Amino acid sequence: MKKIIIYPGSFDPVTYGHLDIIERGLKICEQLIVAVSSNPLKRTLFSIEERVILLKEVTKKMKNVQVEKFDGLLVDFLKRKEARIVIRGLRAVSDFEYEFQMVLANRRLNESMETIFMMPSESYFYLSSSLIKELVALGADISGYTPKFVENELKRKIPYAQS
Ligand code: ADP
Repeated sequence: MKKIIIYPGSFDPVTYGHLDIIERGLKICEQLIVAVSSNPLKRTLFSIEERVILLKEVTKKMKNVQVEKFDGLLVDFLKRKEARIVIRGLRAVSDFEYEFQMVLANRRLNESMETIFMMPSESYFYLSSSLIKELVALGADISGYTPKFVENELKRKIPYAQS
């Protein structure tokens, strides 16, 4: 059986930080599934379909990467995929508390699930989807933070304030 890793998240939108984690994850599995969450409690700029399209576009050259949307519990998605391993990115300390809670909550739901944390390259340590959305709104250059395709879609969504 193929060693599958699931990389869940909102990806609103995908950034170079996410791509960094995908590339690292690919080194330790045979197939990586990016699971785009449609959490109804989280308001997103891009719809679930748009987030999936953006991810598919920027990972199209990566062999062994699949992009899928999911709703409901992550443990149920894992079961459907016959997977056990989840990968998450760990940035500056801010991620730690939340990730710790998620691991424990998921473990209660499914004992056999394991989460692997990976640190991105230093350049992406403070990069988040929220940050790039804010920067676009202010008219700042975000070319080092996300691929051109995503940047263009962001600019279409957020008409920035010009002085
Ligand atoms: P969520 O809403 O699930 O936190 P995100 O899209 O914000 O979804 O993040 C998905 C995953 O990618 C999380 O594990 C997050 O820590 C990780 N991640 C996001 N940005 C970066 C980055 N710049 N470097 C490393 N990991 C990141």
